Amino acid sequence: MAMMGMAGVAARSARHRLSCSTGHLPSMRASSPPLSRQITMDAQSLAARLKSSGLLRSQGLIGGKWVDAYDGSTIKVHNPATGEVITEVPCMGSRETKDAISSAYDAFQSWSKVTAAERSRHLRKWYDLLISHKEELGQLITLEQGKPLKEAIGEVGYGASFIEYFSEEAKRVYGDIIPAPLADRRLFVLKQPVGVVGTITPWNFPLAMITRKVGPALACGCTVVIKPSELTPLTALAAAELSLQAGIPPGAVNVVMGKASDIGDSLLESSQLRKITFTGSTAVGKRLMAGAAATVKKVSLELGGNAPCIVFDDADVDVAVKGTLAAKFRNSGQTCVCANRVIVQEGIYEKFATAFSNAVQNLQVGDGFSEGVAQGPLINEAALHKVESFVEDAISKGAKILLGGKRHSLGRTFYEPTIMTDVKSDMLISREEVFGPVAPLLRFRTEEEAIRMANDTNAGLAAYIFTSNVQRTWRVTEALEYGIVGVNEGIISTEVAPFGGVKQSGLGREGSKYGIDEYLELKYVCLGNMSH
Ligand code: ADP
Repeated sequence: MAMMGMAGVAARSARHRLSCSTGHLPSMRASSPPLSRQITMDAQSLAARLKSSGLLRSQGLIGGKWVDAYDGSTIKVHNPATGEVITEVPCMGSRETKDAISSAYDAFQSWSKVTAAERSRHLRKWYDLLISHKEELGQLITLEQGKPLKEAIGEVGYGASFIEYFSEEAKRVYGDIIPAPLADRRLFVLKQPVGVVGTITPWNFPLAMITRKVGPALACGCTVVIKPSELTPLTALAAAELSLQAGIPPGAVNVVMGKASDIGDSLLESSQLRKITFTGSTAVGKRLMAGAAATVKKVSLELGGNAPCIVFDDADVDVAVKGTLAAKFRNSGQTCVCANRVIVQEGIYEKFATAFSNAVQNLQVGDGFSEGVAQGPLINEAALHKVESFVEDAISKGAKILLGGKRHSLGRTFYEPTIMTDVKSDMLISREEVFGPVAPLLRFRTEEEAIRMANDTNAGLAAYIFTSNVQRTWRVTEALEYGIVGVNEGIISTEVAPFGGVKQSGLGREGSKYGIDEYLELKYVCLGNMSH
């Protein structure tokens, strides 16, 4: 995902917002503008309802017990649509993390030894609970993350699908028998769980980024310490509560949040923790990879993208518009697979720009709880400043605004769905991930030029192409240096396919039959002396 190269001001503002405090739960601030008051009241009563249902937790989970930070400090969790405080969660650090690792280590001794069928049943039960609480979990996601409720409920289905899929895969962790080179030997390969896993996740998919890691980890017998983003810890805590209700043993799933670098360092330093799996910015990913070297942990990284979306002259315009719209504006442009550069061939450029603009201008912006809203707020001010600075940079270098291009009249962190034309490869928006609702259109002449432009980045997560030529589909797909390619399709994520990037977009794959390998070690056994 990532906010690579974030401006200093923006980064400071994000940090300010995450500072720990030792105060008590404050009441909702009454300083919001009148327009948002109705929504504020609704969100408040929603939070109260979620609390009484037991799904709005405001403590961390260590060894099956809900706990505060040991020094009592807390972090406020905000609703990005209104700026209101939803609740506070513990601001934890190294001591709590060490205890969480110990609990996970103890739980690993038994969880890794129960039968695959039993682990499968527990995961299936967890899946059923996630689905039966789809509405409430969706509401929690919209409340703390801002995406439209329909999209949030969609994320619950998607997030839960990893638990269902890996409940099934749990039973298929087969080993191998290798034909021996000598007659009196027998060689075989066992697959065993790697051990305790540290799981660090971002705010853009508060549920799915967790289940995509925890599903396969638990399925093969690992136990986990989850560190969700401090911006969106509530969905993680609710999912953890449901894991307990599903009978997943205490200590198998732990959740700590607070001082990110202290928690990260404790995870890295521990020799009991054998793997780090991370989704987030490239900068933090590199830091974790370097830190993992000290104890030689396994590492899986899902980092920033810079997805090209190439529209060829021979594309079906309607298909290209629909696909680009989905690939660009989902989650307000805040996904690591969002189209970051829309690269359009000169023969179709004007036609595509007009049709795309007509579609984008219909996107309704607003609070994710309001009917018909397709685009919510950005996660915080740092994100807004980043988008603004990228747009300013592009305009100063000659780009033109076709649509939007400024903050939305709703205020706060709402930004207008934006299309820019005359964008060039040297502009910031072409070099880095904007992570917001801005579609820059770049122009190309030949297929070779499009491939060169698309590959001219250190990132390599997702790419999209729109063409109706079969031979071109194969040629371009093979030439793209990316882990995922969508052909005439803007929505590519599914639990059954391997998700991950090449180059600096990461290491390893998540989901699918390949995803479980990240949590397994191979043990080769050589049995000798067969004649005795
Ligand atoms: P973003 O810019 O999208 O917020 P980050 O990489 O900063 O991406 O955040 C992704 C996750 O990484 C979050 O849970 C965040 O708290 C965590 N994180 C940030 N810094 C560190 C760190 N030094 N060690 C461990 N985790 C970290």
